[in-house]
Formats: sequence, C-alpha cells, structure tokens
Amino acid sequence: MLKLNEQVYDAIRHHGEETYPHECCGVLLGRSKDDVNDVADAIRAGNTRTDSAHNRYHIAPQELVKIQRQARERGLDIVGFYHSHPDHPAQWSKTDFEEAHWLGCSYVITAVAQGAAQQTNSFLLTGSSEEDKAFVCEAVVVSNDGASNHAAETAAKEPATERC
Ligand SMILES: [Zn+2]
Repeated sequence: MLKLNEQVYDAIRHHGEETYPHECCGVLLGRSKDDVNDVADAIRAGNTRTDSAHNRYHIAPQELVKIQRQARERGLDIVGFYHSHPDHPAQWSKTDFEEAHWLGCSYVITAVAQGAAQQTNSFLLTGSSEEDKAFVCEAVVVSNDGASNHAAETAAKEPATERC
C-alpha cells in the first residue's frame, strides 16, 4: 500500500502536467513499514534523458545519491519513485520494469492526457533479486492531512482500492 497526503499526491500529478509533453520524474521519501510505503515528501528530479524524454525517464546517479543523503538527514528513506506517461495509460512499460531495481519501493505512474493528469497508479516492486522481481499493483491511499496521526488512522481504515 502506498500512503501519501493530498499535498504530495497533487504535487506529483502537477509535475506531470508541467513537463507535458515530456515525462517528469522524482523520488518519494518516507518510511517503509510492513507492506506500507508511507510517503512524507516528493522530490523532483531532472529528466536526464535527452534522446526521448517523452517516453523515457532517468535520474542521474549523482542526483539520486544527493537525494538519498538529504533524506537520511531528515530521518527518511527513499520509498518510491514517480514518473508520468504523456498520452499513455498509467501502466508500467517494459523499460520501466527493466530500469526498476529498488525492491520494496513503490513505482508511481500518472497518465497525463493533453496536459491534464488522469489516473495515478502505484506498483510495488516485489521479489528478492533481479531474477524474481515483479511489479504488483498496490492500493493508493490519499489522506487529507499526512502530518496528523489521527487522519492517517482514519485513512487507513477506509477501504483501499487497487485501481490499476
Ligand atoms: Zn514509464
């Protein structure tokens, strides 16, 4: 399950609208517990691919290291990644799968049609190695106020829907 507050959820979707018709990408920081990736913040990353930025995304290793360091200073971990699919469904591609290496992380995809964010799906990268890794559709729970424990508890009680 992916948990995030409304502010982060909106930020991810708006990022995809801003970069349309190119893909956006970024990193999700938070805490991972049991099967829940609880997101505290979304960090924008530059799309370093210049060959086909409309259907490929890539985060430079140096940038990722920097983001990870900043996360740890805040007591957070990298719990996921997000990118957009301009004029394509919110389903992972073969390339997305091949380039996904962070087991236990959530890979969030937002479909952006004609510049407007549509469906947002999240896929958990399961498995114990590159050989048996798999993407599994997971529920996305959006709370009104992620900073409040009460709101988070309320959100967790709501039926989580797997939309992908
Ligand atoms: Zn993709």
